[in-house]
Amino acid sequence: MNQLTFDRMYRASCEKDPEFEGLFWMGVKTTGIFCRPTCTARKPLPENVEFFTDSRSAITRGYRACKICKPLELPSQTPAYIERLLEELRASPSLRLRDGDLRERGIEPATLRRWFLKHHGMTFHAFARMQRINTAFRKLQQQSTVTDSAMSAGFDSLSGFGDRFRDVFGVAPSSARAARVLHLQRIETPLGTMIACASEDGLCLVEFSDRKALETELLTLARKLNATIIQAENPHLSLLAEELRSYFAGTLRAFTVPLERTGTDFQHAVWDALVSIPYGTTRSYAEQAVIVGRPSAVRAVANANGMNKIAIVIPCHRVIGADGKLTGYAGGVWRKQHLLQLERDALQANTSNSYTSE
Ligand SMILES: [Zn+2]
Repeated sequence: MNQLTFDRMYRASCEKDPEFEGLFWMGVKTTGIFCRPTCTARKPLPENVEFFTDSRSAITRGYRACKICKPLELPSQTPAYIERLLEELRASPSLRLRDGDLRERGIEPATLRRWFLKHHGMTFHAFARMQRINTAFRKLQQQSTVTDSAMSAGFDSLSGFGDRFRDVFGVAPSSARAARVLHLQRIETPLGTMIACASEDGLCLVEFSDRKALETELLTLARKLNATIIQAENPHLSLLAEELRSYFAGTLRAFTVPLERTGTDFQHAVWDALVSIPYGTTRSYAEQAVIVGRPSAVRAVANANGMNKIAIVIPCHRVIGADGKLTGYAGGVWRKQHLLQLERDALQANTSNSYTSE
């Protein structure tokens, strides 16, 4: 197999080459959809796609499964004997099939292994283990004990269960019962894709998707809130998407989407001060420090600004250097400049409108 370079994967997807099925998935930035290599949908330009070597990464980057090629389902050419095997697993997830058990069913373990590696990126045994973990997670959330869950999911050892569970869900099994769920969605804006995350109480995070530390940030957030992140619709995220559209159209000045902020009291005070900066204006870090009541703590205020995870809605882009320089912005200085310009233009347009209407 050739190396999976961007060009090779792009070519394979244009040729709908079935040899690459299970080796990569293609995310389409403009639609937020991800596909198999063999998808029959029209192929986008190379600058509008990115590739993933497992479907999980596509999902954590906020892509939704394509309705045409159904990248999360087995390809239609799933052999009947594998269908039967999967059915058996679904019916009794604790079932542990060893090579001998497979042969008894007339299945050659090596063939099965190759098929699963190709179509799911993991061996049959890893796939079965994943199914067991998922069952255990559901059980835990329905209040059974960790030991019960581990045993009924077919794990021999509690520590093996715990390790595997943490790998998959990012929390220890003992905390899964209390675990909350955070919903994640991607939102397209004129300045690029944003990733947003909300609990049932409010918006916890919205950042541009190319931010380097985004994955770490999501994991930290999940840990702090003892939550599992899944990709799903959420009323706060729908409201956010609508408000961002109006914001970028220049018609929205203040967001109303409820927030669930994590952070220290000091950070909260700094973020409150950010929200108090009027639309279309800027403040210096020193001015921010005075407003927070810590005039000598300019650096700490700047740090707390940088810790803001709710971009645009908590307008950290409205803070600039004392000399008027734009200074740093997690989403890139070019975006900060664009946001400030957008707000100034919207104010300007509004002023001239009210002149004409008078
Ligand atoms: Zn597709």
